Amino acid sequence: MSQDTLIPQVVEAIHAVTGGAPAVLHEPSFSGSEWDFVKDCLDTGWVSSIGRYVDRFESDLASFTGSRHVIATVNGTAALHVCLLLAGVKQDDEVLMPTLTFVATANAVHYCNAIPHFVDSSMVSLGVDPEKLTEYLADIVTPSSEGPRNRHTGRLLRALVAMHVFGHPVDLDPLAEICAKYGIVLIEDAAESLGSSYKGRHTGLHGRLASLSFNGNKIITTGGGGAVLTQDAELARRAKHLTTTARLAHRWSFVHDEVGYNYRMPNINAALGCAQLERLPILLNTKRQLAQRYAQAFSSIQGVSFFNQPDYACSNYWLNAILLDRADTNWRDAVLEATNDAGFMTRPAWTLMHRLPMHAACSSMNLDVAEQLEARLVNMPSSAKLGERQEVVHA
Ligand SMILES: *Cc1c(COP(=O)(O)O)cnc(C)c1O
Repeated sequence: MSQDTLIPQVVEAIHAVTGGAPAVLHEPSFSGSEWDFVKDCLDTGWVSSIGRYVDRFESDLASFTGSRHVIATVNGTAALHVCLLLAGVKQDDEVLMPTLTFVATANAVHYCNAIPHFVDSSMVSLGVDPEKLTEYLADIVTPSSEGPRNRHTGRLLRALVAMHVFGHPVDLDPLAEICAKYGIVLIEDAAESLGSSYKGRHTGLHGRLASLSFNGNKIITTGGGGAVLTQDAELARRAKHLTTTARLAHRWSFVHDEVGYNYRMPNINAALGCAQLERLPILLNTKRQLAQRYAQAFSSIQGVSFFNQPDYACSNYWLNAILLDRADTNWRDAVLEATNDAGFMTRPAWTLMHRLPMHAACSSMNLDVAEQLEARLVNMPSSAKLGERQEVVHA
């Protein structure tokens, strides 16, 4: 297999699936009640942090995901920040997280003055590899009265943030087991996995806390927005309190009992979210159809494979991905060049977190698999509207 034979076939496959018109990586779709609900906010003046759409969005999300508690926030990074605070992450603690993630996962840890500690990924899920993590922790953890410590740095290992990469659920059961064994708090960064389930249960319900994102490129959007999920009533109360400036309820007084945050989702954003949630089942359906068409189009091409959801999961296929057989960034970049030249917005995976300058001093395990994935992975146009086409066009 040479580059010269592979690359035209990749372009052709994307062309066949998308219909050939220029296609961006992921764009939002507003074809429901979005205009009506947002107009209602403007007409009534309820545009800011208080209003009935925020409450409705939270309860609609709770019904959709099955989460007992949902707290809407200004964005996914803020939601993750609150999750980490409520997990007890403190200054100089270490937080385990995949190196293959969006920078927001690491940023939220820095906001707590804590230190990311990078772990490797699995070829099956693209997320944290439970087996490799088990072996690694057996090697580096030393118990202490305050909790598990990294024996190399002496710092407490407070939490693990598991991220569901491109919507594909990470293998949560073994991760929950490891965390329980050591007394490490499991947090799910479910920013990309709204609508994805693990063994029949929605993602974001397995960790003590989880965060969602409704940024413009996510499966549904509120413009900017996020949410904290938890099954624990006390954590939910704390999340609501921290995200609303820690103000004590009273008819007129402004008394705040700790340093809080202005992280509450505005009503106008929640209005958009309520309309988007109504259409989420349809969006999920079309996105899964699109994934199926990609899988079919790439099945006969040598030198590349379409990334399929793990067997235990039902994925939202937020971003479709192919893996080149060869781990060679020159090949990957040639594919990126040719597909972008043809009008298809393809993208590499994120630059791995351990390579970024602010993480130069952070601990990490061997990151072989994530480094392979970084060199081999290409994301393809994945907007829901591309899935609406029924017929597969054969070249
Ligand atoms: C989008 C995203 C976030 C952050 O969400 P924002 O709403 O953009 O702050 C966090 N983690 C991951 C993995 C994401 O993809």
